[in-house]
Amino acid sequence: MSKRVPIVAGNWKMNKTATQARAFAIQLRERIRNVTDREIIVFPPFTALPVVADELRNSNIRFGGQNMHWERSGAFTGEVSADFLSDLGCTHVLVGHSERRRDFGEDDDTCSRKVRTALDAGLIPLFCCGETLEQRNAEQTSDVVKHQLSIGLDSVKDEEFIIAYEPVWAIGTGKTATSTQAEEVHRWIREWLGKRFGPAVAETVRILYGGSVKPNNINELMAEPDIDGALVGGAGLDLASFEPIVRFK
Ligand code: PEP
Repeated sequence: MSKRVPIVAGNWKMNKTATQARAFAIQLRERIRNVTDREIIVFPPFTALPVVADELRNSNIRFGGQNMHWERSGAFTGEVSADFLSDLGCTHVLVGHSERRRDFGEDDDTCSRKVRTALDAGLIPLFCCGETLEQRNAEQTSDVVKHQLSIGLDSVKDEEFIIAYEPVWAIGTGKTATSTQAEEVHRWIREWLGKRFGPAVAETVRILYGGSVKPNNINELMAEPDIDGALVGGAGLDLASFEPIVRFK
């Protein structure tokens, strides 16, 4: 296991009512209460955050928002602010998930503003990046990911953040990047971190892999030196698949 504390995170997306989320949070808390050598984070829908907070507040599982607005407050009907999240006990927030980029027009500048606001509100941004299949086939993966990172993280100083490398073609498709493909990009990201923030930061920042992570591929992925954890979508909705992922070897 790498010297960085690994993270297993579950992004529930638009799944689970508050009632379902509470029941799931209770079961998850009981099943993995003895897991202490890795960080576990869940990202419920906004409407379920208060009940998940009630159940997980004093547990080894942390929780965060799937999204937030880039402003702290104001006339933004329907939006959720970073302060709303921290007030509920959230420690983390996802920024730049590919579904937000693809379906809600989030661009690198928007992501950058969100990262800054999250940090200002005391949240740890989990910044998502990754290439489409067309970009991979055109051998643009490295350029695309570095571009997303350099704009998205442009305002970050000496502050904690997490990166998730999520190839768009592997999200929800059942197609996982091989551990070799994932490790190659994670290594590029760590090299980029070294140039941008210096070697100490490059050694410390956790880089998660996301894209059809399942119980049968987590161990191979986690064996790679630059893969520090997983951001799990579909397999995070069910304890039968999420628990073995959390307990990767
Ligand atoms: C995700 O949405 O971040 C994700 C990785 O989804 P899945 O595990 O379902 O591919």
